[in-house]
Amino acid sequence: MQKIRIGISTCLLGEKVRYDGGHKLDRYITDTLGHYFEWVPVCPEVEYGLPVPRESMRLIGDPASPRIVTVRTGVDHTEGMIKWAGDKLKQLEKEDLCGFIFKSKSPSSGIGGIKIYTSSGMPSNKGTGIFGGAFTRYFPLIPVIDDGRLHNPNLRENFIEWVLVFKRWKEFLKNDTKIRDLIAFHTNVKLLILSHSPKHYSTLGKLVAQAKKYQHDGLYSEYARILMEGLRLFATIKKNTNVLLHIAGYFKKQLTPEDKRELLEVIEQYHKGYIPLIVPMTLINHYVRKFDESYLKNQFYLNPHPVELMLRNHV
Ligand code: SF4
Repeated sequence: MQKIRIGISTCLLGEKVRYDGGHKLDRYITDTLGHYFEWVPVCPEVEYGLPVPRESMRLIGDPASPRIVTVRTGVDHTEGMIKWAGDKLKQLEKEDLCGFIFKSKSPSSGIGGIKIYTSSGMPSNKGTGIFGGAFTRYFPLIPVIDDGRLHNPNLRENFIEWVLVFKRWKEFLKNDTKIRDLIAFHTNVKLLILSHSPKHYSTLGKLVAQAKKYQHDGLYSEYARILMEGLRLFATIKKNTNVLLHIAGYFKKQLTPEDKRELLEVIEQYHKGYIPLIVPMTLINHYVRKFDESYLKNQFYLNPHPVELMLRNHV
């Protein structure tokens, strides 16, 4: 598998770029995800021109347009950082990024929940970092997460699925595509999007059915917007159970009553939280191969990420 290019806050790779001269090496990122992802590191504070070590900074003022200032001496770096971020985002357009992992809690790199101090002195957690916020506004479709959320198995799984579909979508756009190609892409992504959001599944279905009414570029950008918006929503146990039961329906003629009962029992156990998603998924994949079920064979939902990442293994 060709490595996928992912932006990352430099300190998470173990580079000593933090204000205190340290780093925030994350071994899951480097040793596990590093097998599949190729990193494009960004350290806003150092690339903007600050030294290591340096005075730490914080956000102050209005959460909608915060200012970034040094904690002890109050030096305001807001204008310089915003200018640097604008130039950096233009450079990143050429990096073919399919995602970004940001350092949490950073007034420069964070993408949410950053402490912001107001005139009353009481901080709220409503801030976004100067660069992290600018990135998500500039690239609204690119999947993002921070290292804190990455360690929650559900959020991690969601992020990786989102990245892999975004990558497939970018590959798809590289070809001279026709409406029939979009229909084929949509057919393969259907069950995955259903597991994240039945509402987006239905909206995308209607969009593709009326594809001929749209201009090519408008159709594709609308499709991508709705698809990525849907993938941000979590695939819950309830939504996954719905998809698994839908898939089980494809085998009603091929399976013996005993096999059918076993499959439904396994889905029920998953629904009750006794076993991880990987269990019904493995059984279903076995039947997909055995009965050569062509529609299911190509579903991203059944093979969304490399097995070595051990996603879908948690209860
Ligand atoms: S959090 Fe961001 S600005 Fe701070 S050291 Fe890490 S990459 Fe640099």
